[in-house]
Amino acid sequence: MIKVNLNVKELYNSDFNFLAKEAEYICLKNYGKKVFLRALLEFSNECKMNCLYCGLRKDNRNIKRYFLSVQEIKKIIKKNYLSGFRTFVLQSGEFVNFKFNELCDIIYKLKKEFKNITITLSCGYFTKRKLKLLKESGVDRYLIRFEVADEKIYSYLKNGLSLKKRIEMLYNLKELNFETGSGFMIGLPGENDEILIKNLELCYKLNLDMIGIGPFIPHPDTPLNYLNKPSFEKVLKITAILRILLPYSNIPATTASGTLEPYGREKLLKVGANVLMPNITPPRYKKYYLLYPGKICINENADTCILCLKQKLKKINRELSFDTGSSINFTMKNNNLELNYGIN
Ligand code: SF4
Repeated sequence: MIKVNLNVKELYNSDFNFLAKEAEYICLKNYGKKVFLRALLEFSNECKMNCLYCGLRKDNRNIKRYFLSVQEIKKIIKKNYLSGFRTFVLQSGEFVNFKFNELCDIIYKLKKEFKNITITLSCGYFTKRKLKLLKESGVDRYLIRFEVADEKIYSYLKNGLSLKKRIEMLYNLKELNFETGSGFMIGLPGENDEILIKNLELCYKLNLDMIGIGPFIPHPDTPLNYLNKPSFEKVLKITAILRILLPYSNIPATTASGTLEPYGREKLLKVGANVLMPNITPPRYKKYYLLYPGKICINENADTCILCLKQKLKKINRELSFDTGSSINFTMKNNNLELNYGIN
């Protein structure tokens, strides 16, 4: 069992080579060579919100909106189920309330038809009551990033919404025994070292099962289109620190990082990431799901993606895994086993 004796600030100020080595060691020790695959289906790009950084924001009239039908979703899941996928992430913007029942119905039908699948949902904010209904419908995991652990910046980026409410939802997810994922963006306006440390501390405090971090890549159709991207080195360093802080969580090498830097995902897998999320959204819809511009792999179908990822992983001595891949954190908690690690 790894015992981490550093506090977040000390880690943040440590030498990158030390962090990278430590993070890779921890990841290989806990998860081996396996890189878990999550099939990502962006089933709708409708969104009622207006986040300043996001290409799906309501005021962006330059994209065609879509919402896949139950039949289409089933067809896509079936095809990928037959290819070996067992873990599916269903993602959308925050749609209006009347679609909620439709969503529960879709999940229920998928869980009934496809045996042993795990469903992660990522559709924005829900009240505790609605989360309970989603759990009853069969949702296993939920992903909602807090984006930035600073109330002022959060509220500025999200048009007055409260960070407290977001964090409350994350605690609700944990209480309802969802495998809980969150994370933040790197390079947002107003960010500094202190805020990045606060972001890391919040991930640790929440003891997340999954942590997704992504670089802020400015989208031309948003009010933040004039800003610069962060350096990839920063993303690498933060990933390594997260792995040291949360040795038993799942950490994806995000597509946004692959967009920011050639071989970005492979580089993240070398510093502690252990999950990849190939996109199974049909290419005719993918082009309308652009949270940020220049997104890689939008013309590839799922089969091409898998072949490509297999080759990429072989080069770095890692292997694709279709296992459900729950975090060690979550598995231990559900078996009443204690994890022995911590920071000062
Ligand atoms: S970040 Fe999410 S909630 Fe905000 S506009 Fe984009 S899709 Fe909507």
